[in-house]
Amino acid sequence: MRVTTAFSRLLRLGKGVVVKKVRFEPDRVIVEVALRRRRLICPECGYSTRARKDTRPENSVWRHLDLGVWRLEVQCRRRRLWCPEHGARTEGVPFARPRSEFTRDFECLVAWLATRTDKTTITQVLRIDWGTVGRIIKRVCDDELDADRLNDLYDIGIDEVSWKRQHNYLTLVANHRRGKIVWGCAGKGEKAADAFFAELDPEPAAASPPAPRAAARQPREAQAPAIMVPFGPCPTVPAGHGIPAAWLTDGCELDPQLVARASRLTAISMDMTGGYAASARHHAPQAARCIDPYHVVQLANQALDEVRRAYWNELRSLSDPNAAKRFKNARWALLKAPAKLTDAQATTLARLKAAGGEVWRAYTLKEAVRGIFEPGLSLEDVTILIDRLLSRLARSRLQPFVRLGTTIRKHRDGILDAIRLGINQGRTEALNNKVRLITRRAYGFHSAKAALALIMLTCGPITLHLPHELHALGIA
Ligand SMILES: [Zn+2]
Repeated sequence: MRVTTAFSRLLRLGKGVVVKKVRFEPDRVIVEVALRRRRLICPECGYSTRARKDTRPENSVWRHLDLGVWRLEVQCRRRRLWCPEHGARTEGVPFARPRSEFTRDFECLVAWLATRTDKTTITQVLRIDWGTVGRIIKRVCDDELDADRLNDLYDIGIDEVSWKRQHNYLTLVANHRRGKIVWGCAGKGEKAADAFFAELDPEPAAASPPAPRAAARQPREAQAPAIMVPFGPCPTVPAGHGIPAAWLTDGCELDPQLVARASRLTAISMDMTGGYAASARHHAPQAARCIDPYHVVQLANQALDEVRRAYWNELRSLSDPNAAKRFKNARWALLKAPAKLTDAQATTLARLKAAGGEVWRAYTLKEAVRGIFEPGLSLEDVTILIDRLLSRLARSRLQPFVRLGTTIRKHRDGILDAIRLGINQGRTEALNNKVRLITRRAYGFHSAKAALALIMLTCGPITLHLPHELHALGIA
């Protein structure tokens, strides 16, 4: 077998790609390939033509998967074409994404590793820097993200996560039914939620042209002005106050595709700050705005931590420093769910119980808050529990918990709505924890887009495959 034939088989760069020459250099193997196909393809849109504009003066270079300890580069002399939509473009190749310096196989290995392991491992194993990892996963994410992920949203959660330093935020939208993150942007609050709704239902002018099926049904001369239909699952929306994006043209059948996607939302869960609620009230007035149980438990944890810290400071100033030190280690014993404690933490907790006092009282209050969201409780049970809890908090004589009681009382209906609509506390918490873990890994990225891509690749509607899996499945 000739070397070029052997390399053609080894690299599997795709149909119509032939290896012309293989060169060994001190630190790398260089494989020169040529495209056998006659037609030139625009990498942006897939437009193909036989007309060649010219040929690029230099070879294009892509890094491919390593060959043993050798770094492997693919080189190709590419032609240029004239795309009616994009103008002059260098032709696309089947083995790499447009504007990438890496082959698809290499990029898919990077994406797979990025969702599973830490920064140092990836950069050392693959010999690329973390910024490059960010650019690669952004491309993979754009390419692989399910375009229909915003269809069929019913119960969603909208929430922010802090990124990099404390005052950088990413806002994420979760599809509760599937337990996936489906949308994200930089920033937080009402503006971020508005951006989500704008993408959910783009303005009629900015939207892509209507589906040919819907267009064909209309008589040609019918260019009547669009009317706004107060459509939605709520019959209470007064005329003229419908969902802003639900535009229909006169004479058009009520096509489900034309109905605003925001109008299908039945529940939106969020935190208690109010920004998201304002946007949701405006864009999806029919959806119940409920309080994510996760946030209630988080507030209870914060209140407990405040009590603990005050007590610790008191210990430190009064008695021996050893007691204070011992108590400092109690933090996780107090904050973790009892079922997840290690043996040592369980012992610490038992000691705290025996000691009694404010910290123990705060702990039982925190557990009472968690108790509301135990699985298997009916709405009636929770209503009773929450009212009992509210009076307990009000009488607790612990300032942080009295404040917590006031907040919970204010959002009581929203919390009960979450229970009524079955927003699953366990699952939302699990997704939240996963997102927070991934976000910490994304701190090293400079752009919010790369951080979002990492979150989407890990928690979004994407299935990542390793190169060998892709080839086995025949996808690549
Ligand atoms: Zn094009």
